[in-house]
Order: sequence, then C-alpha cells, then structure tokens
Amino acid sequence: MSTAAATPALALISDRINALEAPQTIEMAKKARALAAQGVDVISLSFGEPDFQTPQYIKDAAKQAIDEGFTFYTPVPGIPELRQAICDKLKRDNNLDYKPENIVVGTGAKQALANAVLALVNPGDEVIIFSPFWVSYEEMVKLAEGVTIRLEGTLDNDYKATAAQLEAAITPRTKLVMYSSPCNPTGAVWSREELGAIAEVLARHPQVLVVADEIYEYINFVGEHASLAQFAAVKDQVVTVNGFSKGYAMTGWRIGYLAARPEIAAACEKLQSQITSATCSITQRAGLAALQGGRSSADEMVAAYRRRRDLVLGLVKDIPGFKTPTPDGAFYIFPDVSAYFGKTTADGATIGTANDLAMYLLNDAHVAAVDGAAFGAPQCLRFSTATADEKLAEAFRRVKESLARLR
Ligand code: PMP
Repeated sequence: MSTAAATPALALISDRINALEAPQTIEMAKKARALAAQGVDVISLSFGEPDFQTPQYIKDAAKQAIDEGFTFYTPVPGIPELRQAICDKLKRDNNLDYKPENIVVGTGAKQALANAVLALVNPGDEVIIFSPFWVSYEEMVKLAEGVTIRLEGTLDNDYKATAAQLEAAITPRTKLVMYSSPCNPTGAVWSREELGAIAEVLARHPQVLVVADEIYEYINFVGEHASLAQFAAVKDQVVTVNGFSKGYAMTGWRIGYLAARPEIAAACEKLQSQITSATCSITQRAGLAALQGGRSSADEMVAAYRRRRDLVLGLVKDIPGFKTPTPDGAFYIFPDVSAYFGKTTADGATIGTANDLAMYLLNDAHVAAVDGAAFGAPQCLRFSTATADEKLAEAFRRVKESLARLR
C-alpha cells in the first residue's frame, strides 16, 4: 500500500508548483539569517524592504479600526472609502481618471500582479517582460502557462527596454507586456518621452495589454513619475499596479491595488474572491489613512534613499570591475560583476557565476546580495540600499576587501 509519506516529494507536488522557482531574494535572506543565527555579523542587503517604521498616523488608524470593532470581512475589492481614496490619489499624483469600479485592492502589489497575469494570460500566450525584471514576473507567467519573452535592456541604456525593441518583439501571440518603473532591480525610470514612444507602439497593437508596476513611484530621484496609462490612446490596455509597501514603509501590512478597465478589474476580483477574498480589514483602514495623509512621510524617506544611493555609488566607484548605471529610483544597486568570473578564491574555488560570487561574499564578507540571474541578468548582483548609512559603508568596505582577495 502506498502512503503519502512514501511518495517521492516531486510526485507528491503538482507539476505546476514543481516548475516554480522559490524567490532568490527570499532564499538569500534565509541563508543570511541562518548565518546570523550562528553569531556571524551578517549585513543583509538581499531584501527589498524599507528599514523605516510605518508612520505613526497610519498605525493609529489601524489601532482605531481594531478598537471600533472593524474586524469583519469586507467587500472583496476593498472598502468603498479606500477604493475612492485610491481614485483620488491616482488623480492627484498621476492625473488619471478612475472610478472605484476600476480598482481592486488586494494582499500587496504582488497579489495585484498575480491577479492580472492569471486573469489575462491563456496557455501559450506570449508575455513580453522588460529585462532585468522583478523576480516574480516570470514565475507568475509560468503559473498562467504563458511564454515569457525577455526584452533585454543594456547597461549603456541604463537597462531600459525601448519602443523599437518592443515593436520588434510583438507577434500575433503577444498578450501582455510587464515592466516596473522605477525598476526593481536596476533603478531605471522610464521618462514620459520613453513611455510615450512605447504607448505609440502599443496603440498600433490594441490586443496587447500591459501591466505597469509602479510600486516604487514615490522613490524617484529624477522628478516627475510618468504612468503609461496617462497616454489616452492606450489607457484601456493598461493595468496600473501600485501599493503601500515601499512609499509608506508598509511591507508587513500586505496591501496593494490595481487600476484597470472595469472588465479586467471584475475578472481580477473574481479570481481574488475564490483565493483570498479581501485583504485584512484593519490594513485597509491603515491604507486609507496613509493616502489621506498625502505623500509627505514618503518624501522624508526618499531623502534618505537618495543620500544612500549617492553614498553607495561613491563606494562602488572604488570597487574595480563593478559596472553600474546610476539608479534613478527604487533602492537597489545592480552592478555588472562579470569581471570577477573566472577568478579563484583563497580556497581554490572558481567564481563561475554571479551566484558563486554572492555565496563567496556571504561567506567571506558576510554581506548578502542576490544573484542577478533571478532578475534576468546573470552578469549582475543586486544589493539593496534600504539600510542605515553606516551599515552600507561597512558592507561595501567588506565587499571591496573580499573581492581584492580573489586571484
Ligand atoms: N513589484 C515590485 C517591483 C517589487 O519590488 C515588489 C516588492 N519587492 C512588489 C511588486 C510587491 O510589493 P507588495 O509588498 O506590495 O506585495
């Protein structure tokens, strides 16, 4: 008689999940925590997490929600006041006109992205992803049984895929395009002109939809944020995703949203209603307070992110072989580290890949970074800069020393 316990693990688990990668960001954070648990002084620059506390006025709104007994299920796409506040925000910050019926609030921008991909992509559909890209995009496409087409940005162009590249990549099977601006991992910010050129291409292909991930909107060092949905000709093709994790330092609260034409919003709501229902009622009240408070708390954090970006760029300039564009937004630095491939450690091991280099830096410098392969760029490493200035300075001092020991 066969028992579940005797079944090999791979056979036990669905093909769908066996084919999925675990996020490298989370895996590296686990390794760093394990090393720290042994008493090693690890500096983890692996995770995309603000080191700031959620602003007090947002926490107070959540406490009030609990005290008022606001503890029941809410409508799946979010409480009406919050959906309206999101429309107000999209108007105020992005000059976008949406109604509450266009908005679906979920458990983080991550759920909004997954909702959109699963609601739009059929098996075999092509999904064009601007590369380097955020780790979860390809895996979400895999879950939907779509086919990823990577549009490679280059170092010379600050890793920004162009309208011409997009035009060349669109086929009759293209269903969706996905990108983040400001971009995780590169920090690239697509300008209004660049997005305008992309919108022109998309307007010629009205069957192609786009997921525009704007979660880092506020963490932008070059000024005005541009949204693809601002181009009227393509607005109905665009699903704009945003949230609270980065701009309001609310990663643990799990709240994000999408804005899309009503049919797409309804499809996302249907999916969400069968999987998670609404996000936490208390969190929704916190999100409402966050939006009502405007963006001044974000502006304070952005000043720190900019200072750290400048600090890290200065430190990285002194590291031979690290080639990086200047990140215009988000809180990462994404150097090309391929100059170290083929070098040897003091123990005689060869650095063949960015993952080997990440493991070497973890064990030798006690600094955790993430292999760029997870983001579509196997020649790069991603370091988060969302950490105290002193820690960043110490981390890059150690990285430089460890790299200098490679032969
Ligand atoms: N998109 C990008 C580009 C991100 O970096 C992240 C978080 N690391 C998310 C989406 C998900 O954010 P949330 O916490 O709102 O789910």
